[in-house]
Amino acid sequence: MDKTIEKVLARYRVESGKGFRLKDHDPQDDGGLGLDKENAPEMLQRGVQFLAEKQDMLYAQDRWSVLCIFQAMDAAGKDSAIKHVFSGVNPQGCHVASFKAPNATELDHDFLWRHQQWLPQRGQIGIHNRSWYEEVLVVRVHPTILEAQKLPPRLVTKRIFDERLEDIAAYERYLARQGVVVLKFFLNVSQAEQRKRFLARIEEPEKNWKFSAADVAERGHWDDYMRAYQEAIRATAAPHAPWYVVPADRKWFTRLVVVAAIARALEGLGLHYPEVTAKQRESLTQAREALDA
Ligand code: ATP
Ligand code: MG
Repeated sequence: MDKTIEKVLARYRVESGKGFRLKDHDPQDDGGLGLDKENAPEMLQRGVQFLAEKQDMLYAQDRWSVLCIFQAMDAAGKDSAIKHVFSGVNPQGCHVASFKAPNATELDHDFLWRHQQWLPQRGQIGIHNRSWYEEVLVVRVHPTILEAQKLPPRLVTKRIFDERLEDIAAYERYLARQGVVVLKFFLNVSQAEQRKRFLARIEEPEKNWKFSAADVAERGHWDDYMRAYQEAIRATAAPHAPWYVVPADRKWFTRLVVVAAIARALEGLGLHYPEVTAKQRESLTQAREALDA
């Protein structure tokens, strides 16, 4: 990977929670490479192409899988990042799961249950639009959600969110040991930019459908959310399950960072097409002869 890109990525990658502070991360950052909106599409295209090539090998090799988790405040650009970054990937090799508030069946299980069902198979890329982290974000910010979770009362203590973070970290370590490459993206949008995007959703008719008054109410809990994100990142950032705190005030830059981070992870796997054994080669030769006859 290009050394400059590697250097920029390192600014956003969090592999240890020690001393992590969200306020050290600027949502407006643009990498300082002098890139701009004009040359971004071409760079993105190169990243998308690279992902497509690696994903083909991932699939052929059928050993590793990749789990990309996307978390963010509303209007930070999760949906559009997913749409652009994975635009070149073979639909047979990836799957997107979006997690909303859990339904009754889901609430009858432990919180990881519903997520586990959508983990990528070997050879596949799984994209989780929201994830188990909601359990330490929205649930932490709104105690009434926790009350509705049907947990035995004596298990609901002051430590519950620390315990959940511990369980998430342990689970991600387990996944990593099973060959699941875990990548977590927090699209870090500023409150001012979110306001602009909400206003655009109100003013532009083709964006009206995206607007939800509830999102404006959620915005009122901004500081609580930021604290919850900071706690979550501190407790779960690890070399085998890094967080990327992606500047999200410029959508074109967000996408470049996300594509580069996934490209880097795939590159690190040393993927290659399965090697053909002497025996398989012989059978290929025989098959050719049969077809030629
Ligand atoms: P969009 O950007 O289109 O609004 P979204 O991801 O915000 O996409 P929504 O339809 O708004 O999608 O629904 C997601 C909502 O579900 C979020 O407000 C999220 O906090 C909530 N949610 C997700 N997981 C949980 C959970 N475990 N408990 C409670 N609420 C949850
Ligand atoms: Mg929403």
